[in-house]
Amino acid sequence: MSDPLVDALRDSCTGEVHAGRSLAEFTTLRVGGDARALVIAEDDADLAAIGVACTQAGAPWMVVGRGSNLLVADDGWHGVAIQLGRAYRGTTIEVPDEPEAAGVVRVGGAEPLPTLAVRVAAAGLTGFAWAVGVPGTLGGAVRMNAGAHGGDMADALTEVELFRLRSGGRETWPASALELRYRHATLPEDAVVVGATLSLERGEESRVREEMAQIRDWRREHQPLSEPNCGSVFTNPPGDSAGRLVEAVGAKGLTIGGASVSTTHANFIVTRPGATATDVHELIEHVIAQVASSTGVRLVPEVSRVGNFPPVDTS
Ligand SMILES: Cc1cc2nc3c(=O)[nH]c(=O)nc-3n(C[C@H](O)[C@H](O)[C@H](O)COP(=O)(O)OP(=O)(O)OC[C@H]3O[C@@H](n4cnc5c(N)ncnc54)[C@H](O)[C@@H]3O)c2cc1C
Repeated sequence: MSDPLVDALRDSCTGEVHAGRSLAEFTTLRVGGDARALVIAEDDADLAAIGVACTQAGAPWMVVGRGSNLLVADDGWHGVAIQLGRAYRGTTIEVPDEPEAAGVVRVGGAEPLPTLAVRVAAAGLTGFAWAVGVPGTLGGAVRMNAGAHGGDMADALTEVELFRLRSGGRETWPASALELRYRHATLPEDAVVVGATLSLERGEESRVREEMAQIRDWRREHQPLSEPNCGSVFTNPPGDSAGRLVEAVGAKGLTIGGASVSTTHANFIVTRPGATATDVHELIEHVIAQVASSTGVRLVPEVSRVGNFPPVDTS
């Protein structure tokens, strides 16, 4: 049976439009159900058309970057999942002649962070090595104010380019308008981050490469990179580490169905083939309850949960 929303998207978008496409393959946790529609937007006209189609159908939208911080419910997403296509990749770097002047980096919303980190290092810019091990896109990194190893997006971001799905146009916002703080950015609900400008100091390429190699090694040793995961599941409470708390209450290795608290890093949840989003969700809720009852600290999930998740009885 045809879906009028999908028909409208197929009529108006040049990018791929998929009906009932599993989002599991678009997330690094590899669980979750189907989107009513998934569109790979190839240009701003596609984004504008998605805004119109969703508004007319009364359907919600969400942006999927690399899906490295997303948990999609088993019954899926009842709206349009938007992924930015290849046209939104790419980086241009300007390095001024004056040796002290910072470099200016303009980057597309779909650019993978590790690629960006390598490119800016090759251009002799420093301060972005932390991003080499964060497997998201630029847009997702802005949305989350991603960060690691003492750095974050807020350190470098000067401007963001937003596409507004309701008005169908672009706006340039200064980074200061995003109220960036630890894993937080304030963005309008209809904003798609289609690009950004970064300012990065000059540095020695060989030193930045060495720093990136150390970061990769550290991650290989301390994170369960061979199993599906979404990075840190919980944000760190002020002055403490979520992983330390999870480990302290004995929840390392705790398993529900096909999802387990990683034995390599207690702030990671890993999934096995056959795992469901509900397994991950229930495990998250049990860990929150266990940590709260033993320590009084209520952990806050960093992972974005999308769709319907039933309440969990943790008693
Ligand atoms: C192995 C591993 C290690 C990780 N390490 C780190 C780390 O060290 N530090 C860290 O901060 N994170 C880390 N993460 C989490 C994740 O990579 C980051 O949060 C990343 O920024 C998410 O980007 P994404 O493109 O995957 O976004 P997604 O997971 O696809 O989406 C995350 C949120 O951003 C929104 N979004 C995505 N793209 C856009 C866009 N273009 N415009 C508007 N909204 C958008 C989504 O709607 C969603 O709300 C790790 C994840 C993994 C799997």
